[in-house]
Parts: sequence; C-alpha cells; structure tokens
Amino acid sequence: MEDSLNFIEQIVEKDLENGKNEKRVHTRFPPEPNGYLHIGHAKSICLNFGLAQQYGGKTNLRFDDTNPVKEDVEYVDAIKKDVKWLGFDWEEREFYSSDYFQQLYDWAIILIKKGLAYVDDSTLEEMRAMRGVPTEPGTESPFRTRTVEENLELFEGMKNGDFDEGSRVLRANIDMTSPNMHMRDPVLYRILKTDHHRTGDAWCIYPMYDFAHGLSDSLEKITHSICTLEFEVHRPLYDWLLEKLEIFHPQQIEFARLNLNYTIMSKRKLLQLVEGEHVKGWDDPRMPTISGMRRRGYPAEAIRNFAKRIGVAKRENIIDIALLEFSVREVLNKTTARVMAVLDPLKVTISNYPEGKVEEMESINNPEDPEGGSRMMPFSREIYIERGDFLEDAPRKFFRLSPGKMVRLKSAYIIQCDDVVKDAEGNVVELICSYVENSRSGSDESGLKVKGTIHWVSVEQALEVEVRNYDRLFNDENPDGHKNEGKTFLDYLNPDSLAVATAMVEPSLKAAKAGDQVQFMRKGYYCVDPDSAEGAPIFNMTVGLRDSWAKKKK
Ligand code: ATP
Ligand code: MG
Repeated sequence: MEDSLNFIEQIVEKDLENGKNEKRVHTRFPPEPNGYLHIGHAKSICLNFGLAQQYGGKTNLRFDDTNPVKEDVEYVDAIKKDVKWLGFDWEEREFYSSDYFQQLYDWAIILIKKGLAYVDDSTLEEMRAMRGVPTEPGTESPFRTRTVEENLELFEGMKNGDFDEGSRVLRANIDMTSPNMHMRDPVLYRILKTDHHRTGDAWCIYPMYDFAHGLSDSLEKITHSICTLEFEVHRPLYDWLLEKLEIFHPQQIEFARLNLNYTIMSKRKLLQLVEGEHVKGWDDPRMPTISGMRRRGYPAEAIRNFAKRIGVAKRENIIDIALLEFSVREVLNKTTARVMAVLDPLKVTISNYPEGKVEEMESINNPEDPEGGSRMMPFSREIYIERGDFLEDAPRKFFRLSPGKMVRLKSAYIIQCDDVVKDAEGNVVELICSYVENSRSGSDESGLKVKGTIHWVSVEQALEVEVRNYDRLFNDENPDGHKNEGKTFLDYLNPDSLAVATAMVEPSLKAAKAGDQVQFMRKGYYCVDPDSAEGAPIFNMTVGLRDSWAKKKK
C-alpha cells in the first residue's frame, strides 16, 4: 500500500528534518488497566508501534494506572497478551505510571513552591459551582490565596492520610476565567484511601490523569504523544505543566478515534456486558475486544491491515464493520484449508454404490495456496448433504439437487436424485440417489455437463461437532445513540447473536486443535474454540464467505 503521508507522518518527518529531539521517534501506548483492550485500542497500538517501526524508533507500553479503584492485574496481563498477539514488541520498556508516584509527588511540591498549585478544601459541589460554564468565567476558590507554607503542610498531610477522602484536593493555580474549562484550576491530586494493585497502601493520594500523563511522557522522553481527539482541549494543560516544571516537552498529537457501527467501544460499557452476563466474558467471540476477536478467529494480520486501511484522520467518522470483516476474509481466504461440513444434514443413500465400500477421495486443501496440499476424504453409500441443497419443486435455475436432476459431489461423483423419502408429516427425511460410476473427480469420463457442485460427508465416518454461529451483538447501527429515547445500548442487544448448532464434518477435523482455522466450504470461516476437548472440536463462526448482512438490511 503506497499512500501519501498521513498528517502524523508529516509531523514526524518535519521533526526529523529539523533535527528535533536528536532525530528520535519515541511513541507510547498508554492503556489504563481497567478492562480488556478493544478494536479501538488496536488502532492506537498499530499507529504508535507502526510509526516507531517506520522511522526506526521505539514504543513504550505504559500502564496508566493512576486510579486504583478500577484497575486490576488481570487487565494488565490481558493487555500485554493482546499487544503481543497483535505482533508488537515493547522489549524491556514496560512502564507503569505508578512507578512514577514519588517523582510526580516531587513535581507537585515544585508547583506548590512556585505558587502554581494549592490545596483546596471546597466540597466537590462547591468546586463545580465555582468552575462556572464555558461562556462565563468561574470564580476563584477562597483557598486559592493560601501561603506556600500552608499548602506544603496540607499537601503533606494529604499524603500522610491525615484527611478524609474528598475533604481536600490539590489544584493547579492557572486561570478561573479561561474559556477552556480544563484550565480553570484543574485538580491535580485527590485523596483515595484505596490500595493500589502495584503500590499497595504506600499512597493515599493519587494523581489525576492530566497531571500524570504528560509528566510520564516527559520522564520517558516520548517525542510524539499520540492520543484521541477528546484530549485536544486538554493539550493547553499538558503544555502548561511541562513548561512550568521546565522539563522535557513531548508533543501531543490528536487523531480521530475509531468508531465502528453495530458495536460499542468503551471499556466501562464492555464491563457492563460482562458483569451483566450478556456475553460469556471479555473474550466472548461476539465482543469487540481484541481477545474476543482472537477467539473468534480474526487473524492479527487482518486487524493490522484494517488499521492501515482506515488510516488516521483529524475528524470523527464511523467505519462500517463490514470493512473489518472484509479484512478478515481477505487473510483467511489465503490461509485456510477448505473442508466439508454439513450444517443442516439430509441423508442420501446411493443405491447403486456397493454396501460396505469406502473410497478415499482426494480434496485440495486451498485452491489459493499452491503449497496447501490435499487430503483424503472417505466416500461411501450413505452420505449427508445440506438440506438446503435439495428442493423438491425446484425452479429452473436451481442447479443443486432435485428429483430426476444431477449434481456433482465435490471431489467425488455425479449423483442423480431418483426418489424422495418422507415421514408421516410429509417432511423429506432421505433421498435415494444413484451415482455415475465413471464421473469420479479427476478422472471424469462421463461427458456429463452438470452445473452445480455441492459438499457432503460420509455418514459413517462423519464427526458430529458443536458449531457456534454468531450474528451481530447489537441489532442497531448505533446502539449507544438512543439516550434521547431513554434507551441504553443494553436495549439493543441482539437476542439471536449466538446460535449453537451441531454439524456433521469430515473426519479429518477430528485432529483439529484450539485456534485452528478452516473454511467450511460454501458456508464460512470457522475456528476451533479453546473450550474444545481432544478429538471433539467446537467451531466458532469467524465470518461468512461474503457480506450477508448487506443483503439482510434491505
Ligand atoms: P475506553 O473509553 O474504551 O476505556 P480509553 O481511551 O479510556 O478507552 P485507555 O486505556 O485510556 O482507554 O486508552 C489507551 C489508548 O488507546 C489511548 O491512547 C486512547 O486514546 C486509545 N484509544 C482508546 N479508544 C480508542 C479508539 N476507539 N480509537 C483509537 N484509539 C483509542
Ligand atoms: Mg479511560
């Protein structure tokens, strides 16, 4: 993909040209470990690690763990696994904002000494009222004029646990009349008497994100601090802190976050899906999480290609999830073996085929892959075909099986339907067919022209497996966009997003292991779920062969 430079690449190249930062490119991916990563994070990961790769730079993995209330080591581990799986390496540069707590505290003291920060005893409500609204200036807190000595003493008291949670905060002394609300004396530290997953009970004051983030960037000598657009209004504060502390100054650059239709992308809301048991966990294959997509069989390469395809923009937009699915199909088409699986079986008895005879039929694994090889499939007198491949009253253009008509069995023989067996209610329960002996695939001498080819499996050797078919988790394009109607995303959950079924598959799949991926011919891409027991694979539907949803919508 030879494209013109995106706006971030342009900034980086200009900086390199100007010799800025000793021509270093150093980015970071800074997740808060309060949930599992989602596809939006994948975009950010690809962007940050991709830029560094492109310009011979480095990328840090930094856990922005400044809020002990919501954070957990389970999330730290999951995040590391996901970034690695996506194909990126932070080498030894695994950092935690919590490792900087002492340094951050020392910097807060410097701000206090410079008269640039003060301890405020106002209640939350009072502070909110004094902040004002964007069109009107706020009012200064009565505690704003405290002396440096008093502030130092109170801040130390906060640190030592002398005061109750919520009774005091440390604020920056900036400008209560600023049109930018983030500059109206933002809170830098609050009291939280909660243990931290890394620092234990060492601290009972914790820095706010805006304070910790830029200073952590500076400590790590990050050159380009890339974040999503909502942080644009935080940039003046980011710059103010670095300037006042006179420390290394990374450049914050904002880009439009990834928005996808038919899904939600907020860890807080994804947590609600998990806790409310609307899904089976963070890695449920219906989840827009990286772990869910991995379990569903989305290849890391497909996610990287998707991230490249959508590019980086400065304006918010909504990407069609079909583009992600396209990227998945594109990779799987090249890499997966085609196998036969009958999802809705109809028995066929081939009356002129000898009883007890079994022939091994060669079937090509992947026509897209010259090195894909082939495998053998047993063929016998009794087979299953897809119920949908037979129609009793078939229209003229139906090229599959119907009474008196012929069809080719993929990699095997041509058969003709001679008779239809029905149960008492008139349902078709079996077909009686005959095969054309000299029509075997690869050595067909029948001279017959048969238009349709269908898949099949031999009854005796077939393996019965569980198949989990998935549909969209939400049945609305913008599940979170109905607040005006008093609805939440939970009101738009698709009750049919999971359909568990059984299928009869070819015996070669008995050896399939968790994570293996195949194409069920004419059906879709499937992947073996980690829940599978040895010899009994459970298949997750990854994605259909084409965009069936596009048709459904109309
Ligand atoms: P969430 O609201 O889902 O929790 P977040 O932005 O609070 O997302 P963080 O853990 O703080 O989550 O994000 C880590 C990085 O991923 C940040 O740099 C953030 O900008 C980026 N990021 C988060 N969501 C998206 C998205 N939808 N598109 C692109 N980047 C994203
Ligand atoms: Mg967040």
